[in-house]
Amino acid sequence: MTPDLCYLHPALDRVSERRTDAAWIADRLADPATRMVPVRGSRVLVAGPPAAPYLAYASATDDWWQGAAEPPHLLGLVDGVAHFVADLQHIDDPRSDPRITARGRLMDLREMGWLLPRGDGALAAQARALWWFHRQARFCGACGRPTLPVEAGTSRRCSDETCGVQVFPRLDPAVIVLVTHGERALLGRQKVWPKGMHSVLAGFVEPGESLESCIRREVREEAGVTLADIRYQASQPWPFPQSLMLAYRADAATTDIARNDAELEDADWYERAFLQSIRHRRPGEGDFFLPAGHSVARWLIDCWLDEAG
Ligand SMILES: [Zn+2]
Repeated sequence: MTPDLCYLHPALDRVSERRTDAAWIADRLADPATRMVPVRGSRVLVAGPPAAPYLAYASATDDWWQGAAEPPHLLGLVDGVAHFVADLQHIDDPRSDPRITARGRLMDLREMGWLLPRGDGALAAQARALWWFHRQARFCGACGRPTLPVEAGTSRRCSDETCGVQVFPRLDPAVIVLVTHGERALLGRQKVWPKGMHSVLAGFVEPGESLESCIRREVREEAGVTLADIRYQASQPWPFPQSLMLAYRADAATTDIARNDAELEDADWYERAFLQSIRHRRPGEGDFFLPAGHSVARWLIDCWLDEAG
């Protein structure tokens, strides 16, 4: 069963077969029912109360969002309605521009992604990831000339026809693992995290590694713990900026901790009863709290806590 994780859309049709059909794309962009997800930099436009925000979609035929240097990138169809990215990068000062302030506020998903309706969060995450790709791949890595978006933003191709290199959005696979030993879980904290936040261990997969060998290496490097059994749990798109999180559970074979100061400023075993007692603290509350609810890290911890009788 696929878990109900943040940033996964329950019903998005990516219409891969229509992306090369320029007439179909043009028709969608001329249809007032088509929805645009306004993005500026790494932020998306939201409206509604702070505790229950929602995406402030635009219509494809609205003029207020238009003016970007490139055509909108297609996200897909939801219930037959096309959704595209509206890049607001051309708006100089969004804090005072009435095109923005009249409709909502620009916010980073990391600040509120878990509060959005599930479909909105997924579209916002996909829009943010696509925005990042198109920004990072503006020039050809082979010859240095500009690239151009093709197939409604699915990829980019070098503008020099003799070169013709095509690049697709890149994903960085990262493993994330809840290590347990009986009634205790291994949690750590990185210096860059919000003060007090503790979470499971994670790391990026290196060339030549399997996911399992990466997990064993990361846990050994960061905490000095050797693992026994490793079990895949779920995956989650994590567009900060371009990761794919691959979540695992693992049983510890050893429990002595040898923390790597360069990687973590804390790593320790925490009793399930203690984590149960603080699990409802909000991010920033108290001197020990768990990651926000949009992360697969939090989902891993919650699943383990819920297993207690
Ligand atoms: Zn090139």
